[in-house]
Amino acid sequence: METADFIVIGGGIAGASVGYELSLHGKVVVLEMEASAGYHSTGRSAAVMSENYGPALWSRLVTASRAFLEAPPDDFTDVPLVTPRGALFLARDGEQAQLQAQAEEMLRRGATIEMTTAQEALRFCPVVRDSEFASALYEPDCKDIDTNALLTGYLRALRKNGGTFIPDARVQSLQHSQGTWQASSPRGNFEAPVVVNAAGGWVQEIAELAGLSFRNVVPFRRTAVVFDPPAGSAIQGWPMTFDVAETFYFKPEAGLGSWCRPSIWLLLLPAKHRPTNWKSPLRSIESTAARRWRSGRSATNGAGCAHSHRIMNPSSDETRSSPVSFGLPGKAAMA
Ligand SMILES: Cc1cc2nc3c(=O)[nH]c(=O)nc-3n(C[C@H](O)[C@H](O)[C@H](O)COP(=O)(O)OP(=O)(O)OC[C@H]3O[C@@H](n4cnc5c(N)ncnc54)[C@H](O)[C@@H]3O)c2cc1C
Repeated sequence: METADFIVIGGGIAGASVGYELSLHGKVVVLEMEASAGYHSTGRSAAVMSENYGPALWSRLVTASRAFLEAPPDDFTDVPLVTPRGALFLARDGEQAQLQAQAEEMLRRGATIEMTTAQEALRFCPVVRDSEFASALYEPDCKDIDTNALLTGYLRALRKNGGTFIPDARVQSLQHSQGTWQASSPRGNFEAPVVVNAAGGWVQEIAELAGLSFRNVVPFRRTAVVFDPPAGSAIQGWPMTFDVAETFYFKPEAGLGSWCRPSIWLLLLPAKHRPTNWKSPLRSIESTAARRWRSGRSATNGAGCAHSHRIMNPSSDETRSSPVSFGLPGKAAMA
């Protein structure tokens, strides 16, 4: 039995960051069920930092994180954690009031924004299908987060402070007696007075192991579609691009693996698109790959269960199946 002051369950950004902060105060063990850190939501995030996106609480959390991301401690990283990206929100006819409301909320939060037409928005992102959209809002201050540098920075600092990150250590049981928790895993048993549940989509599972009741949180599978950019496009400067109804968003992304050269991501949101509806956002993007998807020439495989679907990467070799699927918290009712 290995003893510590804190056991952190989950090696995503929540577990790594809280593990680092706690390592300033005591001995920390971070237990991760996968073979590497950041395997689930953290490694699949669109990775943008915007104080003007989402509910006010998100905004406050981002504001609270900004100072660290812009000026991390010495030795934390040798690359910038955040770099400029910009965000573009597109509204169809009938969605203009929503765009206006978003603009007003962003102004209330102190954002710099530019209202423009969809056609003028082509200067930010030339693949937008401007005939589909009426107007647009551009936010220049949205930034990219280097999530890999952030995650590895936290884990490196954790180790430097005497903490341990243990992969392949799925917590299978939690027992509490005489003021301490015992956690069992395939990598051994651990004991500490404090356990932090940072298990992302699996928080409920961990809460139940600890004998606690919890809200109905289950991991959902979500799918990212990776496109090759249209030939000759200089995509790196394109903004994160949303439709204001948030049926889709995409951004340039690089370095996801050998199957993913510098590419456009299109991330489909299962909260608003049931698996059967996965094709609809693709109408908004002009690219050979998207046209192939729309015309149904890309191989697809239907839903294997109620709330997941698999999409083949259509960018070149259609036998090269590369769905990007991952667990994230969600309510069972969304399935
Ligand atoms: C498609 C997408 C786009 C996003 N875009 C953005 C964005 O642009 N900007 C932004 O700020 N956020 C974004 N997010 C949100 C952000 O990625 C998440 O909020 C964040 O990564 C959650 O981190 P986490 O550590 O809580 O969860 P996770 O990264 O899922 O980590 C939880 C970990 O717990 C581990 N675990 C589970 N059960 C056990 C167990 N029994 N024992 C041991 N380990 C266990 C899992 O393996 C996992 O590694 C996005 C998320 C998604 C899915």
